Amino acid sequence: MTAPIAKLSFWGVRGSTPTVDPATWRYGGNTPCLELSAPDGTQFILDCGTGLRMLGSRWGMPNGGGNPETHIFVTHYHWDHIQGIPFFAPLYAENNEFHFYSFRSKFLGRDSLKQVFEAQMALPYFPVDMSAMNAKRKFKEVEGGDTFNIRENKITAKWLNHPQGCLGFRIETPAGTVVYATDNEPGDPKLDENLRELAAGADIFINDAQFTPDQLKTTRKGWGHSSWKEGVKLAREVGAKTLVLFHHDPDSTDRMVDSILRQAREEFDSVFAASEGMVITLGATGDNVQAHMPGARTSLRREAQFRANVTGVTEDGKEFQEETVVRDISLQGALISLQNMPQLQSELQVTMETPGEDGLQSSMRLKGYVVRIDAGAEKGQIAVGVVFTD
Ligand SMILES: [Zn+2]
Ligand SMILES: [Zn+2]
Repeated sequence: MTAPIAKLSFWGVRGSTPTVDPATWRYGGNTPCLELSAPDGTQFILDCGTGLRMLGSRWGMPNGGGNPETHIFVTHYHWDHIQGIPFFAPLYAENNEFHFYSFRSKFLGRDSLKQVFEAQMALPYFPVDMSAMNAKRKFKEVEGGDTFNIRENKITAKWLNHPQGCLGFRIETPAGTVVYATDNEPGDPKLDENLRELAAGADIFINDAQFTPDQLKTTRKGWGHSSWKEGVKLAREVGAKTLVLFHHDPDSTDRMVDSILRQAREEFDSVFAASEGMVITLGATGDNVQAHMPGARTSLRREAQFRANVTGVTEDGKEFQEETVVRDISLQGALISLQNMPQLQSELQVTMETPGEDGLQSSMRLKGYVVRIDAGAEKGQIAVGVVFTD
């Protein structure tokens, strides 16, 4: 019997508003949207930020998702969690059926999410009205404290601390437990306890990490968000195995998120910064949790032959230095084969020998950031995809 496997995909990881400036390209600029494929084939979508459009455009492709039974959880009604809805193409096809789950907002009353749909698509805010949306839609109200099952998966919802309310969700699948707790500010004892209960022993704990610990204490206090430090503290306290820092601030450049991730890793073993296109597999043999990053970000490569010296840190935290040949390079990154296994989302120094003027050797020193690790072409080798930072 094969072990049950669940797949968690990150389609949008940015908080508050989408970003398109190049300095935020590596982690990505779409607002929150996650997809969880459970071992029994149930497809969950968590939040409907702008990342939802990308998920929708893959819908029709082979292995691109698209499931007759899709369950969509909306944590709350702030723009960044709903603005992908009108742009989600599968909602316009009558063969599709969606089950939406969200809470009754005291500002909207009954059928809150239904009203959100109608308001978003009211003229003149959107070119077509609701009548164009042909997919079957079922709406279910949930609130903090609710637990229910969807096929073989158990769902728990709890209130978090955020202006106008927000729900955190815990999804227990036979392959592992995923907790999605975004848009939450620590400091309210009762709601802090909710988060502890939600995250207890989770395999993947996705937590709001919008601000730095310093901002959270001072200029951003009361804004309804959290920091990497709070996530680490809680993950440690409740025995969550892997922490994913989520809802990056629109003003946080990739370098700033790198620095947040570096600090978190100094205090907790298994941490990732949520990155658009990242896929985490739960329950795969050998390792409970495996992360993969998108190939697209190292695309448009050209074959090359550069001798290179690479230094970095292995998965087990040991420094290494290795001579290799870079055979594949682009303006943004390269594919490097190594014997050492660096940590995903860690930095590598890559020094490449290049033929200089008059045939004299010169070298080019680049900082690379590990976005992808695959099996290499040769035995004992792994293929490491890096994006050059500066
Ligand atoms: Zn948000
Ligand atoms: Zn919010």
